[in-house]
Amino acid sequence: MKPGDVISYLEMCSEERVNLQRGMNYHLRGDSSVILMSLRKNAPYADRVENDGRVLIYEGHDVSKTMDNPVPKVVNQPMYNPGGTLTQNGLFYEAAIRYQNGKHEPELVKVYEKIHAGIWVFNGLFQLVAAWQEYSNSREVFKFRLKLVEEEQNKNNIHVKKLELDHDRLIPSEVKLAVWKRDKGKCVKCGSTENLHFDHIIPYSKGGSSLIAENIQLLCARHNLQKRDNIE
Ligand SMILES: [Zn+2]
Repeated sequence: MKPGDVISYLEMCSEERVNLQRGMNYHLRGDSSVILMSLRKNAPYADRVENDGRVLIYEGHDVSKTMDNPVPKVVNQPMYNPGGTLTQNGLFYEAAIRYQNGKHEPELVKVYEKIHAGIWVFNGLFQLVAAWQEYSNSREVFKFRLKLVEEEQNKNNIHVKKLELDHDRLIPSEVKLAVWKRDKGKCVKCGSTENLHFDHIIPYSKGGSSLIAENIQLLCARHNLQKRDNIE
């Protein structure tokens, strides 16, 4: 799977071999983690893209809504569960701090983003490089800094292959949404709704931007490959 690929919820779950329910999944399988984003208008968390699409700032998660916490948005995001174990916030936070202190390799995090009901985009593989707590609307929230991995490692860490530069930039959510709407969820060449990919019209490596909808389009796998063959 390449960053920018559009997949269904089921495809995402089969890729991760679990039913993904939570937004944050520390060490979901082996030692890699999975984060789900949802940046739609009414999305609950303030995630953002920085550094020209290389860095994602992801907000931690609130307490669950309970009798004691009827309005999670006014409560500090918790580091610990009531029983004293680390929450997902705490697990990601400690992993980031271990890396910042030079005690561990950065945690590898796969990031998926929901753009429409049942429709997700693989945003790529990231390294968790920093975490902190900050005040936001009079309460403490967690922030995580994730850096897009330029080189994709295979499962055995033996072979490293350079990702194409084109896939090397994260397309901000609002751009993805605008493109999805404009192209009506179909390949702009053939109208296919299968195996779609967010394609840079002018590749990033040739000066095209990831940050404007005018330079992004939906292509099916076939037309994406065809286009790449023409460029190379
Ligand atoms: Zn097509």
